[in-house]
Amino acid sequence: MSISPNAPCPCGSQRKLKKCCGVYHRGRPAPPAQLMPARYTAFAIGNVDYLMRTTHPAGPQWQDDAAAWANELRAYCKRTVFAGLVVLDHDVDDDVGRAHVTFRADLRQDGIPVGFSERSLFLRLEGHWLYHSGEISENRSPGPGS
Ligand SMILES: [Zn+2]
Repeated sequence: MSISPNAPCPCGSQRKLKKCCGVYHRGRPAPPAQLMPARYTAFAIGNVDYLMRTTHPAGPQWQDDAAAWANELRAYCKRTVFAGLVVLDHDVDDDVGRAHVTFRADLRQDGIPVGFSERSLFLRLEGHWLYHSGEISENRSPGPGS
């Protein structure tokens, strides 16, 4: 799904997409507390390029076959309605380059709620924060790459 840059940002900030997560999608480095919503928004609008370039190469979601990975992400984005995000907590260790963000995502597939809560691990690599992996604490459906 693509939406207008002037539409409300899917992350729920009440700001316009272009002034919220869009800023990070266009290239500004995102600290973990912003990277998490920016990745949620990328799922919501089908920006698979952003999802791939903010995934840690050592994480379980990483795929060497970029074309196959992009197709998988596109299919997931297309069949999923991203109905809301709540960031519950985050902690950042800037010295070590390690952060956690805990959130609840409300998702639907074929009208069925498939939301989950996750504690995501972000690691800094060469100055950029990247999504490494997540522990799902409540889940009604497999996520992408599962
Ligand atoms: Zn946003």
